[in-house]
Amino acid sequence: MPKRGFHRARIIDTLWRNPLPTYHYRCKNCGYDFTEQQSFTDDPITVCPKCSQEQVHKVYSAVPIEFKGHGFYRTDKSSK
Ligand SMILES: [Zn+2]
Repeated sequence: MPKRGFHRARIIDTLWRNPLPTYHYRCKNCGYDFTEQQSFTDDPITVCPKCSQEQVHKVYSAVPIEFKGHGFYRTDKSSK
């Protein structure tokens, strides 16, 4: 039983229940780190909820690329 595959299954399950993508932001001013669920059409957050400075930048989009293909099954065999 591949543990990695099971972990992926949990992420996919979360995506099904929460169709909105989660974005990861970080404030350059105070270092505050947070995630926000937004639709693709929402404007990205620019103002820090903690220090109110316009220093927030997006770290990454949390939707896994591998979700589209079968690549994550292959990594289990090749990681020997
Ligand atoms: Zn801040």
